[in-house]
Amino acid sequence: MSNRHSRHHHGFNGPRVRDLNRALVLEAIRQDPGIGRAEIAASTRLTAATITNIVTALIGEGAVEESTEREVRTTGQPVRNLRIIPGYAATIGLHFDHEFATGVLVDVAGNVVHEARQQLSIEDPASAVRVLGRLYDGLRDHPKRVGKLLGVGVSVMGAIDSVRGLVCQSAEYPGWRDFEFREALSQHVDHEIHIENNGTAAGLGEYWFGDGRRLGSYIHVFIGNGLGGALLMNRRAVRGLTGNGCEIGHVNAHRDGKPCFCGARGCLETVVSLRGLAHALGHDHAAELDFTQLRAKHSTALDRWVEQAGDDLGRVLAGVSNVVDVSDVIINGLLPPELLRRLIERARDAAAEYEMNGRPGRLMFHQGRANSEISAALGAATVPLYGNLF
Ligand SMILES: [Zn+2]
Repeated sequence: MSNRHSRHHHGFNGPRVRDLNRALVLEAIRQDPGIGRAEIAASTRLTAATITNIVTALIGEGAVEESTEREVRTTGQPVRNLRIIPGYAATIGLHFDHEFATGVLVDVAGNVVHEARQQLSIEDPASAVRVLGRLYDGLRDHPKRVGKLLGVGVSVMGAIDSVRGLVCQSAEYPGWRDFEFREALSQHVDHEIHIENNGTAAGLGEYWFGDGRRLGSYIHVFIGNGLGGALLMNRRAVRGLTGNGCEIGHVNAHRDGKPCFCGARGCLETVVSLRGLAHALGHDHAAELDFTQLRAKHSTALDRWVEQAGDDLGRVLAGVSNVVDVSDVIINGLLPPELLRRLIERARDAAAEYEMNGRPGRLMFHQGRANSEISAALGAATVPLYGNLF
């Protein structure tokens, strides 16, 4: 029998440090539904009194419920279990790349309520924004949506100017230069908009929906049309000063390499990306890749690409790990899982040659587990939660 308490709390006006403690408690409950106060105390090192204050406030707001599910006879103390109430609030994540826009509606407990996808034409920013607006409408008004909508996170490719709300694209897409993305999107969206670098968004997606939460600190790499990177340090994304940090794809891997989308040359993503794979197999665009025919038609070229891309990726990741002192690496992307696994193995072997010896932690490679088709949208959906709840 579950006995739901509903106490009301007034005057929760503690200092700002309480916000951080509150985020820690909420995160502990989200990650481990049914957790008890003593376990939260053990994992967060907060005092029992602090946890009581925070939990009481969260219950009063309707964000969390506490049930008494069984008695511990030896002590006579009831074991009370805490859960986030999924219907308390929801959030929307949008992501777009060269061809498609993806949207997800996620509840505050981290359940995906609905996902949607639409084709877009990246050359025309105004039409891309209209597609995102339509996805937003469908998710906002979705019949399964419950609770208040906390905001909209948007995962974008290329450099961002989060202060001015610009998405600074390369010379490849001149229409985006000086296009006021956030302003244009706000004509279609009546909730707060959070713009996120797509690499960071994918890294957050893995945190919420993959192995990231278990690791807490990791370097995340996402192989899509380009190569996105993210750094999670102590459960927080490290974004740099302008929100453009961790662009691992644009670390130079070849001194005289091919020109890159970003304007530089020889960047890692000119090789380690769907586009790099397409070029290695003699295609012009990633859209020409036919994964069902890859092994049959391109066995030798494919093997060569795995070697080259794996070596480049491993070498750069060893360097990044040496710089940031984080030793877990999660690699995910739009490659078929078996090909991704081969690439990771090659990268792991290469990295071992360039890793600094003698550090306490050795480099560990993991294959991502978040659904790679929507992980950037999922990660974007979590961004409004951090501002409003976590
Ligand atoms: Zn580049």
